[in-house]
Amino acid sequence: MFRIGSGIDFHQLVEGRELWLGGVLIPHTKGALGHSDADVLLHAICDALLGALCLGDIGVHFPDTSSEFKNIDSKILLRRTYELIENEGYKLVNADTTLCLERPKIKPFVESMQQVIAGILKVTIKDVSIKATTTEKMGFAGREEGLVAYATVLLQKRDF
Ligand code: MG
Repeated sequence: MFRIGSGIDFHQLVEGRELWLGGVLIPHTKGALGHSDADVLLHAICDALLGALCLGDIGVHFPDTSSEFKNIDSKILLRRTYELIENEGYKLVNADTTLCLERPKIKPFVESMQQVIAGILKVTIKDVSIKATTTEKMGFAGREEGLVAYATVLLQKRDF
């Protein structure tokens, strides 16, 4: 039994915040604004995992009105999300993701992100694809006002 899920997340880019992407701290002049550490990539993956099993979305499970999640490391959110998936008897087959941002170039950090995500989701780095694109300077991402992440996941029912 297979289930597919998709997720998308947006955050503003502002000065005075750290830029966390895929669980990795990226040196940059701006960071993502949010209630948690605002890691768009991990949030998109969380929503894809939840979506695959029709479990709602990240806002349902980790509300941004809760002080419990203030500035929380999104790796914790991803770990807790994956526990929900495992509790339903499923495991990740693979994830394919895309980051949309103008700057900085994230290629030097992709393998570190893959390692972090694969570690949490108990797969190999070949099962976690991280792609990136600019928007050719168009729109809010092009003006560096914000960034977007898309994720698609495939889950498989575990054999017991
Ligand atoms: Mg988010």
